[in-house]
Amino acid sequence: MDDPLNLDGRFMQEALRQARRAYDAAEVPVGAVVVRGGKIIGRAFNQVELLKDATAHAEMLALTQAQSAVGDWRLTDCTLYVTKEPCPMCAGAVVHCRCARVVFGAPDPKGGAAGGALNLLQFPTLNHRCEITSGVRSEECTTLLRQFFGEQRTLNRALRLSSTPRVAGSNPPGGFKPETPGEPDR
Ligand SMILES: [Zn+2]
Repeated sequence: MDDPLNLDGRFMQEALRQARRAYDAAEVPVGAVVVRGGKIIGRAFNQVELLKDATAHAEMLALTQAQSAVGDWRLTDCTLYVTKEPCPMCAGAVVHCRCARVVFGAPDPKGGAAGGALNLLQFPTLNHRCEITSGVRSEECTTLLRQFFGEQRTLNRALRLSSTPRVAGSNPPGGFKPETPGEPDR
């Protein structure tokens, strides 16, 4: 889409600001904003750990705020900006509230539901399809995620090393099993 004022970039900048708030709170750094008529009516960052709620993704929180601002569950003239490709849960929510457009930064080929692993946003048998714009400020969005997971791995390694007691005769049954750090799923 032609965007002479680079509005997409500017709104993604705001979503990135939210993602950095998540980063500072030791949450997976994803941020989202909902825009209607050129105004931000919802903004949030991922708060799964803070709220101990697996559904507290940035998109879900931002959509809920936007629905309150509009006074309706229908967000037919709204655009969702999010720093990472939405997961199936969030893409499902986008379809349910009939959002017109989704703009995202970092692609997620393993778990993304906006064309990465699957495409729920334009699923032929669902009653709503929305426009997708990908790759907006994707480098900044991806770098933030990589940096976060890199630090998490270093931290986990340090924690394992510091919590391995070396007491004679106290080896666990089966002996020492080195933990393999799993790749985080988002
Ligand atoms: Zn999600």
